[in-house]
Amino acid sequence: MKGAPLAERIRAEVADDVRELGEVGLATLQVGEDEASTVYLRLKHQAAAEVEIVSVDRKLPHAITEEELLGLVADLNADEAIDGILVQLPLPEHIDEARVIAAVDPVKDVDGFHPFNAGQLYLGRPTHVPATPVGVMALLAEYRIPLDGARAVVVGRSTIVGKPVAHLLLQAHSTVTICHSHTDDLSRQTLDADVLVVAAGVPEMITADMVKSGAAVVDVGINRTDAGIVGDVDPAVADRVAFLTPVPGGVGPMTIAMLLSNTVRAARFRRGLLAFPLDRR
Ligand code: NDP
Repeated sequence: MKGAPLAERIRAEVADDVRELGEVGLATLQVGEDEASTVYLRLKHQAAAEVEIVSVDRKLPHAITEEELLGLVADLNADEAIDGILVQLPLPEHIDEARVIAAVDPVKDVDGFHPFNAGQLYLGRPTHVPATPVGVMALLAEYRIPLDGARAVVVGRSTIVGKPVAHLLLQAHSTVTICHSHTDDLSRQTLDADVLVVAAGVPEMITADMVKSGAAVVDVGINRTDAGIVGDVDPAVADRVAFLTPVPGGVGPMTIAMLLSNTVRAARFRRGLLAFPLDRR
């Protein structure tokens, strides 16, 4: 399941939507100089520029206080030209991440991390959903992987990937099992999966003896090793399953495309073209 062709199509659709909407604005906030964050943000801004989303990259010193950062978030919330706000994680330890995320206007929360948007997903009425999980679902749809009644197993329970993916699969009527680092006998779960989504951050932890023949496997993992970037799934798994996403080139391109798509969605919410189910007066 290659992500790049689908991601390219979605980006073209976003470009059309941006032209139709007029100006669409995205602001990112980065605190400190985490190298991986800088790379991800550069890719996000490049992708935004390609679809003519106006993007603002605010790089802030590591020493910024929580109150100062909250002030900047409030400014962006009030800025009419900004449709989407993304606070690049992780934040330094002296800043309460949850407080900053909760300060973002839920309508502009293109990462889908705000408790309101997370709650909407839990309730089965998604508003803004984190980009990587939506990207995973779009890939499964693109390759027509049956989800209704399927046994889906998610390895990982982070709020960024594992939990939202599990909720989206549940909404698609799969029977969902969520595994994590305390799961006893992981293979017993993964061997049962028609659809296996792995987001653990452990290089090539899923091996061919752990998957069901004919399954669809989505590898979300991005691990930097001496051998280069590898996923959470051993590529040899491809010999046993029907579908597998490559790393790189699988979920990664989808994440960026979906961030752009979430930004257009935020612009639609803000212009009243889509109803946002929260009275913000
Ligand atoms: P986290 O570290 O936040 O979460 C990892 C999850 O995996 C945790 O729930 C953890 O369990 C579980 N886990 C860790 N080790 C094991 C194990 N041996 N067996 C079973 N479960 C395990 O990571 P993220 O969710 O943020 O990211 C996961 C991976 O996806 C990373 O490689 C990351 O780089 C990649 N990623 C890729 C993206 C993309 O665009 N392709 C976007 C975002 C992330 P517990 O909760 O018990 O600790």
